[in-house]
Amino acid sequence: MKTIYMDNAATTKMSRTAIDAMLPYMEEHYGNPSSLHTVGQIAAEALDKAREDVAACLGCKASEITFTSGGSEADNQALISAAKIGERKGKKHIISTAFEHHAMLHTLEKLAKQGFDIELLPVGKTGTITAEQVKNAIREDTILVSTMYANNEVGSVLPIAEIGAICHEKGVLFHTDAVQATGHLHINVVEQNIDMLSFSSHKFHGPKGIGVLYAKKGILLTNVIEGGAQERGKRGGTENIPAIVGMAAALKEACAHIDEYSKKVSALRDQLIDGLSKIPHSVVNGDLKNRLPGNVNLCFEGIEGESILLMLDEKGICASSGSACTSGSLDPSHVLLSLGLPHEIAHGSLRLSLCEYNTQEEVDYVLKEIPPIIEYLRNMSPLWKDKVSGKRQFFL
Ligand SMILES: *Cc1c(COP(=O)(O)O)cnc(C)c1O
Repeated sequence: MKTIYMDNAATTKMSRTAIDAMLPYMEEHYGNPSSLHTVGQIAAEALDKAREDVAACLGCKASEITFTSGGSEADNQALISAAKIGERKGKKHIISTAFEHHAMLHTLEKLAKQGFDIELLPVGKTGTITAEQVKNAIREDTILVSTMYANNEVGSVLPIAEIGAICHEKGVLFHTDAVQATGHLHINVVEQNIDMLSFSSHKFHGPKGIGVLYAKKGILLTNVIEGGAQERGKRGGTENIPAIVGMAAALKEACAHIDEYSKKVSALRDQLIDGLSKIPHSVVNGDLKNRLPGNVNLCFEGIEGESILLMLDEKGICASSGSACTSGSLDPSHVLLSLGLPHEIAHGSLRLSLCEYNTQEEVDYVLKEIPPIIEYLRNMSPLWKDKVSGKRQFFL
């Protein structure tokens, strides 16, 4: 059976370009960039070149790029660095949103225990916040605003440039977790008033375990990993040259094709949203207009998300019921709850996340397979029978 992979928000297949770029740095150019000999210096040159390529994709300087082990580490380092800067200035108020990734939320919880005042803005039904909300929340003692660029579960895209403008007007640092946006949406950190930005290579067909923290010149980063003088002393550990080179190649390729891929992928996305939202007692989650090109997310009343996933897997379809990070726990996703969905509905969620490798045939197949699965699962559910007979009410 052919695998239909529609879980690209969890991770992506590596591109041929990324793999081809990496191989020489495993086979021949395996040096440590800190070494003075030729093999080391070839690695050092590759590191410099990758840093420049990444910077060009973000519209910043190479010296503003720090390589990390991924999106999570970059998020941790951004928050911890901003908190340290705030501590020195006597500012302990940090503004973020209720539907951030756990790499953000758990770090914010840690900072709260250290005496920081963490304010999570509510995101509302469509899963977004306004610049106005941020403006009203900023205080004299606010050091940082951090809002994700695009949500990993419901795909909503936030008004980053406007939020950044407010922050700059008020003299507050602005960080964005752009893991879902990078390589998929146009980014320019200068035009969008972004001071710090995190992203991760494996969300745009690069290798896993590598990411970036961009920090504008003048922002002093605090080490999360102590060690040698790598990354200007801000991130210890021998640089993962193959992964860094592979990430830069994948990012360059993604950025060169953003408009083309976005057009193709969003057309497939819209077919899935249109088709699946015809299923009775369902709701599309997130913002229909400001939405990642590849994100489809719906809730089906009377269904457990996990049971849809298992049945889809039997048909070769890889999907998700929320973020990969929350599967394994039986709690409904904090993202769907933050949109105001009742627990019961939030449990019945399905996320299909597409990329440019997906095809029309795959979309047609998925649209054919899902409705009977929903019907089958509902017919097995005593709760559903109660709803149909009127003993219980429908939410949707
Ligand atoms: C995947 C993801 C992360 C974590 O990135 P890793 O590289 O897997 O650590 C952080 N934030 C968002 C929004 C993500 O989607």
